[in-house]
Amino acid sequence: MAKQKEEHCSFCMRNRIQVNLLITGQEGNICDFCVEEASKIIQTELHHKKRGSLEKELKLLRPSEIKKHLDQYIIGQDEAKKTIAVAVYNHYKRLLHNTSIKEDDVEIEKSNIILVGETGTGKTLLARTIARILNVPFCIADATVLTEAGYVGEDVESVLSRLLQAADFDVQAAERGIVFIDEIDKIARKGDNPSITRDVSGEGVQQGLLKLLEGSTISVPPYGGRKHPEQKMINVNTQNILFICGGAFEGIERIISERMNKQTIGFKTPASKQKINKENLLQYIVPQDLKNFGLIPELVGRLPVVTHLNPLDAQALKRILTEPKNAIMKQYHKLFKLDGKELIIEEDVLDFIVEKAIEYKLGARGLRSICEAIMNDLMFESPETDSKEIRVTLSYAKDKLEKSKFSNKAA
Ligand code: ADP
Repeated sequence: MAKQKEEHCSFCMRNRIQVNLLITGQEGNICDFCVEEASKIIQTELHHKKRGSLEKELKLLRPSEIKKHLDQYIIGQDEAKKTIAVAVYNHYKRLLHNTSIKEDDVEIEKSNIILVGETGTGKTLLARTIARILNVPFCIADATVLTEAGYVGEDVESVLSRLLQAADFDVQAAERGIVFIDEIDKIARKGDNPSITRDVSGEGVQQGLLKLLEGSTISVPPYGGRKHPEQKMINVNTQNILFICGGAFEGIERIISERMNKQTIGFKTPASKQKINKENLLQYIVPQDLKNFGLIPELVGRLPVVTHLNPLDAQALKRILTEPKNAIMKQYHKLFKLDGKELIIEEDVLDFIVEKAIEYKLGARGLRSICEAIMNDLMFESPETDSKEIRVTLSYAKDKLEKSKFSNKAA
């Protein structure tokens, strides 16, 4: 008994009656206060370590290296990859140096990016892959659910709530994260005529986003939704957050073509002599086209890097099925391998899947659902069989797709 009275924390020397809990070890003891302190120290140290290694990593990744990483996951889209690689490289260079190099007063501006391309061409995948390479928090926000403050929908600040959640509420980490805002084209101004009804989901949201994109301290509701007075807000500085916006901008080709026609008639520029590829006008996109589409000039100004994604042809779709690091086919092979079975998919099955994806106008997005329709019964039945080899033939694939709900829906 006498011995227990003398027991004290080996770190702060408080004795047992001065603390809530004393954990006894072989050589010493620790009290609940010191455990709490130690846990704080560990968190800070780990955070610094993580930051240190992030900085090292960022310094090491040159644009060509970033592109090489992207090549492992994304098929084609070379121009978009190069543009993004440079923008991201510059962004993080700015992030690492702007704070320390002030002597020449040159401040590198943020290079937020806008990706224009049909749905399912890899816009989200590009943004997501970039975030993974850089090991920074990443979130996707949908511009169509946002509305101007005070109206039904989500406040623009909810975009940052998602980022905070992705960063486990580590504000410093979130402040270097990447936000992908999808369907930015859907908040374009609806025509030039000032309407009697307020454009709460269009121009109003663009104005709201401007605040985030230009870099300021925003008070963010931690769990998103609408701001309300009793909610505790978290301040997030968006100065170093990279915003990547994506949109299909349906019909923008007409705007590009009109501009190019005017240019060709008006001036004898070298560009007018170049052969124009009318099949893929997106490659000629410039910020002015985005303004003419209905994005406000201030927003276009805050998205200085404009690049496009090409439509995916049959060859690209086939490569998407098999080549990327986590290609759909690789995933199926792995799933069967985990059951000790070898999956053999005949070459013409791949061509058939691609053909159907094109026929149903689903692009790369449709590949997965077509595959699921074909593979589902096999995945259901194969664990029950002893056979070590599972073969998918063209007639099997055709039969399964024909009978699937998917086929009825898409046809
Ligand atoms: P978007 O954002 O342009 O609408 P996504 O990036 O969401 O399209 O693409 C949908 C899916 O299609 C992705 O998850 C990916 O599996 C596949 N995909 C699309 N484009 C590519 C590509 N270029 N390379 C590899 N996979 C792609």
